[in-house]
Amino acid sequence: MSVPGLFADDDSSAAPSRVRVLLPLPLAGAYDYLVPAGLALAPGEPVRVPLGPRHVDGVVWTGTPDAAVPAGKLKPVTARLGGPPFPAELLAFVDWMADYTLSAPGQVLAMVLRGRGDGTQPRPRIGWAPTGTVPERMTPARARVLEILRDGPPRTAAELAEIAGVGAGVVRGLADQGVLAPVDLDAAPPVPAHDAGSGPAHLNPAQEAAADAIRDAARAPRFEAFLLDGVTGSGKTEVYLEAVAEAMATGRQALVLLPEIALTLALAARIEARFGAAPLQWHSDLPAKERRRVWRAVRGEEGETPAPIVIGARSALFLPFARLGLVVVDEEHDGAYKQDDGIRYHARDMSVVRARAAGVPVVLASATPSLESHANAERGRYTRLRLESRFGSAGMPAVEVVDMRAAPPGRGQWLSPRLAEAVAQTLEAGEQALLFLNRRGYAPLTLCRACGHRMGCPNCAAWLVSHRLGRRLVCHHCGYSAPEPETCPECGAAHKLAPCGPGVERIAEEAAARFPDARLALLSSDHIESAAELNRLLGQIAAHEVDILIGTQLVAKGHHFPGLTLVGVVDADLGLTGGDLRAGERTFQLLDQVAGRAGRADRPGRVILQTYMPEHTVMRALAAGDRDRFVAAEMEARADAGYPPYGRLASLVLSGPDEAGLGTFARDLARTAPRGEGVHALGPAPAPIALLRGRHRIRFLVKARNAGVLHDALVRWLAPVRVPSAIRLAVDIDPQSF
Ligand code: ADP
Ligand code: ZN
Repeated sequence: MSVPGLFADDDSSAAPSRVRVLLPLPLAGAYDYLVPAGLALAPGEPVRVPLGPRHVDGVVWTGTPDAAVPAGKLKPVTARLGGPPFPAELLAFVDWMADYTLSAPGQVLAMVLRGRGDGTQPRPRIGWAPTGTVPERMTPARARVLEILRDGPPRTAAELAEIAGVGAGVVRGLADQGVLAPVDLDAAPPVPAHDAGSGPAHLNPAQEAAADAIRDAARAPRFEAFLLDGVTGSGKTEVYLEAVAEAMATGRQALVLLPEIALTLALAARIEARFGAAPLQWHSDLPAKERRRVWRAVRGEEGETPAPIVIGARSALFLPFARLGLVVVDEEHDGAYKQDDGIRYHARDMSVVRARAAGVPVVLASATPSLESHANAERGRYTRLRLESRFGSAGMPAVEVVDMRAAPPGRGQWLSPRLAEAVAQTLEAGEQALLFLNRRGYAPLTLCRACGHRMGCPNCAAWLVSHRLGRRLVCHHCGYSAPEPETCPECGAAHKLAPCGPGVERIAEEAAARFPDARLALLSSDHIESAAELNRLLGQIAAHEVDILIGTQLVAKGHHFPGLTLVGVVDADLGLTGGDLRAGERTFQLLDQVAGRAGRADRPGRVILQTYMPEHTVMRALAAGDRDRFVAAEMEARADAGYPPYGRLASLVLSGPDEAGLGTFARDLARTAPRGEGVHALGPAPAPIALLRGRHRIRFLVKARNAGVLHDALVRWLAPVRVPSAIRLAVDIDPQSF
């Protein structure tokens, strides 16, 4: 991997009469334009140019315009746009990423320009909340709407109509009577009060050593990749905030990426307490107006100092920083860093690329680093910084494995006697418990007890998930949703459809029945509409206004709940089925992380894993607290199979509405598939979800010795291919499932 040279032959003595301009469109490359007399344009400058009958905003790019084209064939640049030029580092990053992901550079540039906006003011998103006023007439439809709002956050009229299955007029009627009042759903959420440190931390020796290494690379910035490898609660955040302080002291900007919006809010509070000013926040749900504000502040567009700290989701990596000084990727192993549609990229890997292009340090932080990062540390590409124990007096939680084969819970129950007893003890001690199940909804499957029919999605090869909220069956892949039918659509039997297996809603039901006096909170994305709502709940948990927390991965990550001493994993095996080679790694990471929520303050923590596979290497490693042995075993398995991080992988997914046509195209494609020196294509085979949103899917996996071989083989294979218009071909370099 190498970053191309920049501006190598840029001649500043005479303004060029032509420039290359990259447009944020899926075109093959940059286009040449004439520079009107009197306009001096250097690479990175934002310009408006004509394209056919339109005008498009783009960026003056690097590279030499084609002198052979007669000037009469070129159009002149229309105008130079406001604001400073984009830095050379960003241009290099765009080119590199386009090449690596086999996409058009203009598509990557579009991600950079996405926050710029078009100048039109978006209208606020209005939700409805009950005022407490009782309606003049209570119809069943009105009652349903009010019930949904009583149990959940404010929702838009369209959402209410959808969930309650009522017409839009019902919500309007309630609003007219003053029963519902409008709220701005995009209003900035309040900054959480919990877990806010105070001023610069006094670091322990291990933290100090780690911080020193990163500060040194940030001072007179140079590229270096650090793997900040420290157990949950070891104080990794404090360490990288020291590096942020160093970058700021040199007048540079720091970017911190996080996998979840909720974590962004908590970190914002911590940064505000530490630095006395809140950082800018960036994520995909930001209202358009706020996006524009952040985008401009990062560039220092109004001539002011560029914003010093930005924290945000993976797309923050494409912000046009004026003077980037440091990149941090927290929870670097997290799957949320992978973008799975449009241009497929892994924000962790691309962070390293951007930091290298900018010549600044990058910090990848995790308690359970990805195997890729372990391998890079072993090969000396990343500098490993280890924090082996929790900060202060907090110890690691004790992990106990419960063999569910030995003592299965009763029918319709999911908590073993052992776990139920532990919850009771925890409540008695005045402490908090978390019941973790990484599955949304009430039940993963709905089955007819008369004929055995399973309710499936009409658009996908997937079962519909039963949700209590609005009594609906929902597809978690395409969003299809329908009311739970009274009769089986297959055999017509009435009242025979039964939910099978547990989702978090069902665990909440069981917990409520077993512990009627405990205060429960259910945390899953279906029950939490906005970041503000989640934030409010997290604040309540931290303030110990909740006794039992039931949640999906939404609660597994990063949070610090001082009163939480018990974590019960309802189904530790959940991620292990399905045959994906990364399943073990992912499950270990998730369970280690959720276990890490227990006992972070002065009281010791305890973790109970319910499993039907107590002998599985993941369970053994978690019970023994032996991460390194687990990693070594996984590495060996990957090496044997020739899978990443040994060798590289790309996946090619073909999809189309017509199964036969798709199959023919796939077989044709297979004829020219790379099979040779250091590279080998597997497939075609049905993709892991063989039908998605009404499109059939076929997959090739291409294994290669290294990234260069993979890249060249794919280009050679795909360049001559004509894809029929009904078929889509999606290339994913470094896919996360294989
Ligand atoms: P990690 O990111 O490794 O999970 P955190 O940085 O969140 O760990 O630290 C865990 C807890 O310990 C937090 O409450 C944090 O405020 C506290 N902590 C960590 N380092 C220090 C320090 N040097 N001084 C005071 N408190 C610290
Ligand atoms: Zn579906």
